Parts: sequence; C-alpha cells; structure tokens
Amino acid sequence: MTDTLVPATDTAVESDEQFRARLREFLTTQHPGRPPKDPVEKLAWQKGWLARLFDAGFAGPSWPREFGGMGLDFGKQVIYQEEYARARVPGPLGTGLGIAAPTIIKYGSAEQKERFLRPMLRGDQVWAQGYSEPEAGSDLQALRTTARRDGDEYVVNGQKVWNSSAEIADIIFTLVRTGTQESRQNGISYLLIDAHAPGVTVRPIRDLTGAANFTEIFFSDVRVPVENLVGEESAGWTLVRTSLGHERSAGAMNQAALYRRVLSELIELAQERGLTADPLVRDRFADFEVRVRIMRLTGMRTISDIQARGEPGPASSTSRLFIVTFEQELHEFAVDLLGQYGALGKKDPHAVQRGRWVWGFLRTRASTIGAGTAEIQRNTIAEQVLGLPRDPAMPPR
Ligand SMILES: Cc1cc2nc3c(=O)[nH]c(=O)nc-3n(C[C@H](O)[C@H](O)[C@H](O)COP(=O)(O)OP(=O)(O)OC[C@H]3O[C@@H](n4cnc5c(N)ncnc54)[C@H](O)[C@@H]3O)c2cc1C
Repeated sequence: MTDTLVPATDTAVESDEQFRARLREFLTTQHPGRPPKDPVEKLAWQKGWLARLFDAGFAGPSWPREFGGMGLDFGKQVIYQEEYARARVPGPLGTGLGIAAPTIIKYGSAEQKERFLRPMLRGDQVWAQGYSEPEAGSDLQALRTTARRDGDEYVVNGQKVWNSSAEIADIIFTLVRTGTQESRQNGISYLLIDAHAPGVTVRPIRDLTGAANFTEIFFSDVRVPVENLVGEESAGWTLVRTSLGHERSAGAMNQAALYRRVLSELIELAQERGLTADPLVRDRFADFEVRVRIMRLTGMRTISDIQARGEPGPASSTSRLFIVTFEQELHEFAVDLLGQYGALGKKDPHAVQRGRWVWGFLRTRASTIGAGTAEIQRNTIAEQVLGLPRDPAMPPR
C-alpha cells in the first residue's frame, strides 16, 4: 500500500474509461492486504479501509454527493461495481448502507441526515437491522416490540432475532409498535436505537458454517430520544416498504459482478482438474454462464429503475430470487463436482481451496430465507408484478 492517494476528479467530466482506470489504480495501490485473524483487529482493519475509501471520494457510488457519496451516473455505477468485485477489497460493514440510508435520505429530517449519513458511509458507525422477531418474520406486521412515549423519549421493550452484524453495531434501525397490537401496519414506527444504550443486550447465534454472523437482541426499558424517530409516529410501514425494496436490490449489481468472478474461478478449477471433458459438466457451466449474464443485465436494470423513479419497485423481488437461487445451485454443483474432497472443511489438509466451496454451500442455505423468504418473494412477484389475486391466507392490506 502506498501513501499517495489518487487525486479526486470530477466524475461528471471524466470518460467512463478514465474513471475505470482511476478507480482501478486506487483499488490496486491502496488495497489493504489480507485481513487480520483477530476479530477486533479485523474490524479495525475493515473500518480503516472504509474511511480511506470515503476520504478519497470513492465511497457510496449511488449516494447523493451532498451526503458524501459519489452521485455516479448509470454507466459509472456499473463500472464501480465491476471494479470493486475484481479488486477483492473489503465490502461495507453492517446492513445500513443499502437499507437504512435510502430510507433516511427519503424520509429523515435534515438533522437526521446530517447526523447519521456520513458516519455510516465512512464506516465510523456500523448499522444493523432489527426487524424480525420470534413471532414476526414473513408476517412482519405482527411484531410486538413496544415503544411507549415518556416525555422526550421512547421506552422500548421486546426482542428481535436473526440480526446480521448486530454484534458489531453502533446503531440498530428497528421497527417498533407504538399503536395497539391489533393496529398491525398502522401502529408501527421506525426508530433508531443506540446499540450501546443501557438495556440493550446482543447475543450471537451460530449458523451452519460455524460462524456467528447474526444475533438476537433484547430491549429492556431502553430509553430512546424522540429525535431518533424517522418519519411520523405509527407511520413506519411506508418506510419499511422503501427499505425492503432497497434491501432486495441493494446488492443486485454488486452480486452480479461478484458471481462473474466466482463462476470464472470455478471454471478454471474444473479445467485444472480435467473435469470439463465431461459434456454434462460443460452443459451446467453453460447454464450458469447464461444466468450470470442475465444477472448483470438485471442488475443494470435495477440501477436504472432506481435512478429513474428513486425506488427499485417490486421487481426487486425478481432479481433477489434469481440471485439467491443461482448462488445456492452454483455451490451445490461445485461441491458435487469436486467429489469427496469437495466436502472437506478449511482445516483439512486435503480440502480444495481451503474448503471455500463447501463453506459457500453451507452459507447459501440461508440465502432463500434472509431479506424475505423465497416463498414471500414469489408471492410479491405474483401479486405486485404479475397482478395475480392476493394470497387468501394473508390478512387484508
Ligand atoms: C442469513 C439471514 C440474515 C438475516 N438478517 C436479518 C437482519 O439483519 N435483520 C432482521 O430483522 N432479520 C434478519 N433475518 C430474518 C429474516 O428476515 C427472516 O428469517 C425471514 O423474514 C423469515 O421469517 P421467519 O424466519 O420468522 O420464518 P417464517 O416467517 O416463520 O416462515 C417459515 C416458513 O413459512 C413460509 N411462509 C410464511 N408465510 C408464508 C406465506 N404467506 N406464503 C407462503 N409461505 C409462507 C416461509 O417461506 C418459510 O418457509 C435474516 C435471516 C437470515 C436467514
């Protein structure tokens, strides 16, 4: 890593190729190297990288410039995602960037935008999503965590679950009940809670891979200033819909660029091991190749939809479903292809590429659950994209 930063340039006057070259040079010369093993050091290493990116004007490709983003046009956003995936540099921390930020930009007060957006983008504050509860996942409107107004504060009590990255979070963006339990979507508010406040307990949950990347959160008489309410009290459901649409589409282009690289690496591995002589293997690769290209085009369409309408819209469910199905099937195929060695984990001396494919196989089991299950995505596509009748099992909207 060198100390010289590539000087900031006005991206609006640069050609696409000049922008690509400048970004590639930055990502290559400033690459932070391999991550430390110790989790505390790794977090500091990741935060250091995000701050460096922000300070050099290379953070938030789709964010407006007034909040520290790059405000890139369509073509340059595509280039940004391609170069970022190619460079293998650390990604964002937490889940705020693609989900809470668009909501705050659209519905937050001027004071909230000023206070929260830049520190989130720079990685100074990590955000985690606190929506799901033990009895409210797909049916999120059934949530029970309450926020009772007491003077200039809300007093929050309840439990959240499956919260990605909450163990490292500084702020939890939550949905809380400010109306009666029966009020369903009409009694939900969008509240930002300090993860270090008294009464907040975060417990890790171990997943199939052995890692603890998500948590359960308990709120016990947590006092939250009223100025942390986003939008109007009990009108949070409109905000949720914005934020879920963005969650599903946030990674579309980024995932497309990532899986372009991952698929090429798997093809290379199969060639090295003489596995592509089998026409059935080549046939599967051709299918994945077609899908990875569709993913890229869909990612481009999502970016252009957001630029045109400010919202990804319900079609974000199509893209999300396509990606999660792809990543599960790709890893399943990789493990099958590698035979008995494909099932060996990282620590086994005979593991292929340090067990990355079996790890991916285990990790992607959860992909069809997080950010809305595959069944819920299909319901959304059926009802809101194709205009089919509403699921009779669901309560009326
Ligand atoms: C990796 C991962 C990360 C996550 N990160 C977060 C996070 O950061 N923050 C957060 O708040 N939550 C997070 N979640 C939680 C996630 O949003 C929920 O798990 C998800 O919404 C499903 O809810 P549930 O687990 O309660 O399952 P349930 O809603 O109980 O569903 C159980 C089964 O019933 C099916 N089902 C339910 N209703 C219907 C219906 N109407 N029609 C057809 N089928 C239906 C579902 O598809 C599923 O198969 C994460 C989950 C995972 C796996």
